[in-house]
This record gives sequence, structure tokens and C-alpha cells, in this order.
Amino acid sequence: MWVCKKCNQEMKKAVLEEYEYEEGVLLKNVEAVVCPKSEDFLFTEEQLEVVEKRSAAMKAHLFRFKRKLTVSGRSLVFNIPEDIVRHMKLKKGQDIDLRPLDDKRFIIEIK
Ligand SMILES: [Zn+2]
Repeated sequence: MWVCKKCNQEMKKAVLEEYEYEEGVLLKNVEAVVCPKSEDFLFTEEQLEVVEKRSAAMKAHLFRFKRKLTVSGRSLVFNIPEDIVRHMKLKKGQDIDLRPLDDKRFIIEIK
């Protein structure tokens, strides 16, 4: 049993919608022990291990993929890796905004 230090309430296992264990590495649906009142949370040793592993795995690819530009009709195209599609919940038909930053970089924003 876990007790919240702030409000002395019993803390229960719950799932955090989002948790950033490492800056810039956002995990979704993370198991933790949560205070029902203050929503303070902590991790058991096992939970922390999972969080660390998931965070490391995500960081490992932190969505850095190499792709080749290919030709489709008169356009140059590249495919978006499956991991990014899933992570960003991209759907066919979504509008994107493509903005060059300089001659080497551009930003793609989902609208
Ligand atoms: Zn509390």
C-alpha cells in the first residue's frame, strides 16, 4: 500500500495518460501509483523499469529515419515511417503544411 505524502490518502495503481520521463520523450499510457486526491504519483520499482525501458526505446529511434526521395509523376515523394504514423496518429487525407526553412530543412505541420 502506498500513501500520498501530501494528503495522506491511499494511492492506487492507475494509468497516466502521458508522462515525460526524459525531456522531449513523451510516453503515453504509463502505469503508476496515483493519489486520487492530489493526483501526485510515484512509480514502483517495476513500473520505473518499464518507464525507463520505454523511454530509452523511444529515444533510440527518436524518430530519426533516413528516407530516399523517389519520383511520383512530376513530384518528389518520400514515405513516412510507420512508427511516426502511429505515434502522431496520422490519417490518409489529412492536410499538411509544408514550409521550407532553408535549403536543407523544412517543417511539415499537420493541420
Ligand atoms: Zn495526494
